[in-house]
Amino acid sequence: MNDSKNNTRFSYEFFPPRNERMQRRLWRSIGQLERLGPSFFSMTYGALGSAQEVSIENAIAMHRDSPVAVAAHLTCSSATREQVDGVVRQFYDAGIRRIVALRGDAASPKETSTPGYGSVLELIESLIGYGDIDISVAAYPEVHPEAVSASADLQHLQRKLDAGAQRAITQYFFDADCFLRFRDRAQRIGIDKPIIPGILPVHDLDRVRLFSERCGATVPASYDKLFVTVKNDPEAQYRLALELAVDLCERLNREGVDSFHFYTLNQTDMCLDISLALGASLQQPKLTTAA
Ligand code: FAD
Repeated sequence: MNDSKNNTRFSYEFFPPRNERMQRRLWRSIGQLERLGPSFFSMTYGALGSAQEVSIENAIAMHRDSPVAVAAHLTCSSATREQVDGVVRQFYDAGIRRIVALRGDAASPKETSTPGYGSVLELIESLIGYGDIDISVAAYPEVHPEAVSASADLQHLQRKLDAGAQRAITQYFFDADCFLRFRDRAQRIGIDKPIIPGILPVHDLDRVRLFSERCGATVPASYDKLFVTVKNDPEAQYRLALELAVDLCERLNREGVDSFHFYTLNQTDMCLDISLALGASLQQPKLTTAA
């Protein structure tokens, strides 16, 4: 476990690599971040069949070959109950005991209902049946795009946590106040489980803007002005993105947030630098005990 000076905990999310080169980069990234002694690594679950296979393979390989605990993401939309249960069994038999339980998005825009699990609540219920699976769920400080209202969104989160999830990990956001207001609202309705902020370092503002439109996150207008000043200067861009992420995390830290989940996008230099700036320390590389 991480021994950062102020007991701040870190976790890092990866996505399934699409080719050999990305696969090698993933393992370099894992090796780099292992040395921070994170709480856990997580592997996202691909939206389509072949990407899902790669997710499963990589989550299991990470669990086997890294000393860090692995949380496997799992979505239940666009799959039958038997398919989802089969994946849970694969994770479980491989020794994975952490799942990020998600509904996911419909594979095609025409698909409106889940053919298997009716909702993520049913998936959580099924995972609870195993008796020893640690469950995380998703939360949305800026409200999920499909939510009827902010309060319905929050009540749905409460149901996921009441159903047995141990914690929520949030969609990324760039405004500390947005997260803090969300945390306050959650506490007011009686949510007392940890809500871990998801932090996305801005490697590429254009891509972040594009993705944010889809997932309902707001990119502050000030970012446009700031990043324009460092256009065509990759080093200055890196320093700016680092400074913004560290400022955001430090502000949250001052407000009592002691865990951060980084969306690494499998590019870990900046996540490493942010974590070090927040007090994480590098440990000696450990050899895995797994066979
Ligand atoms: P849910 O929480 O079930 O529903 C999403 C929203 O719909 C709710 O917030 C709520 O507003 C509304 N809603 C749903 N059911 C009800 C109800 N009964 N009553 C009222 N409102 C309801 N996607 C992937 O494909 N793979 C991943 O690995 C992945 N990892 C993620 C990790 C994190 C931390 C986050 C934040 C998101 C991740 N996503 C991933 C994206 C996620 O799949 C999408 O955001 C998806 O649209 C919602 O999934 P969910 O589990 O949050 O769904």
